[in-house]
Amino acid sequence: MENTTQTHILSFTVNSLKQKLKDIGMPSFRAGQILGWIYDKGIINPSEMKNISQKDAEKLKQHINFEPLTMVTEQLAKDGTVKWLFKLHDGHDIETVFIPEPNRGTLCVSSQVGCTLNCRFCHTGTQGLARNLTADEIVGQVWMAAKRLGQWSDQPFNLKLHVEKSGFDDQWMLDMLANQKEKGEGVERARIISNIVFMGMGEPLFNWPNVEKANDTLMHDSTFGYGSRKITISTSGMVDNIGNIASSLGVNLAISIHAPDNETRTKIMPINKKWDIDELMAALRAFPLKERRRITWEYVMLKDVNDSVKHAKMLLKLIEGIPSFVNIIPFNEWPGSPFKRSDSATIETFKNTIAKAGIDVNVRRSRGSDILAACGQLRGETSKFNSISTEFPTVVMQYGTDSQKQKISVQFTGDVA
Ligand code: SF4
Repeated sequence: MENTTQTHILSFTVNSLKQKLKDIGMPSFRAGQILGWIYDKGIINPSEMKNISQKDAEKLKQHINFEPLTMVTEQLAKDGTVKWLFKLHDGHDIETVFIPEPNRGTLCVSSQVGCTLNCRFCHTGTQGLARNLTADEIVGQVWMAAKRLGQWSDQPFNLKLHVEKSGFDDQWMLDMLANQKEKGEGVERARIISNIVFMGMGEPLFNWPNVEKANDTLMHDSTFGYGSRKITISTSGMVDNIGNIASSLGVNLAISIHAPDNETRTKIMPINKKWDIDELMAALRAFPLKERRRITWEYVMLKDVNDSVKHAKMLLKLIEGIPSFVNIIPFNEWPGSPFKRSDSATIETFKNTIAKAGIDVNVRRSRGSDILAACGQLRGETSKFNSISTEFPTVVMQYGTDSQKQKISVQFTGDVA
């Protein structure tokens, strides 16, 4: 039976696991063996680890939690995108999305159950925040997705089955797999998930300690060993923690900017009331970008809200002098969404205005929209929670909806200055 007070195995790297094994009276050399089973073979149950005796397996399970996330649903979109709903030990659920592209496979992970920030265009933001994810729950999404995608099977990523199920038949996915095998990237196995982006449910910088620990784990040689270039943290602009991304992790940074002026941004992103564009840009100009890195600017195109040429020019002014990549996201409508997607001609004009200034720009192809897996559409559909946890009362009071504030003030009267 799962003991949720135990430390989870997916939060360990080899040195911390050695120490833990020592503490429970087991030889520390087992640490490398155990992590080898988990990250090289995709086996997480100690009873199935062939060089671990059943006695030792039982002992391990007494002291360490080896339970993977529970998969509730797995949906395949027509374009090959896969969306999972995973259940956590306390009954909450989160979504994780895999996006295959010609030369990469990107996994979009969640960092919180829900989100407090209530960006008006975001489906996740409508559900409030239940709690932060732990580091192992973040790593667990990568592990489960890799497992489901066949990273450790003899025939990784059963494309034929995938195509049959999803009706997806483009050549580029075949090419992607072929290319990955050729490249090898210094690991023996073809890595199905080549890139990880923190763009799922939640604001990663509001859960910094766990996001930091999860990244440390994902990048460690004894686990998945991802390079810092392969991971991107996307923030809506939590200024206080932005510098940590560079100083602690060195991974890529994406900013959900979505509007170039305070008036528009505050209307669609309440966080702008706390950290406005001036403060955000000051933090970004101080951000020590590594060589040949750039900041990605996420810009969702909302019809008649932020999509004019004037907005494009203001954006250019804002990011002037910063190595930049602008990622334009045609808005993905969801049931009840208050905005419409900008029409194609408007999006094209906006893009051309950015491109003419010599800034790399891309219009993101919407992926997985038929299964609500596209950007901004994630929302734990089977989630029953409506309440806000005790973890962020102050934040909820600042940014939450009226009903969220009501709940929090009922729960925490006098405690949420
Ligand atoms: S866009 Fe991101 S930060 Fe904003 S509400 Fe949605 S999940 Fe939260």
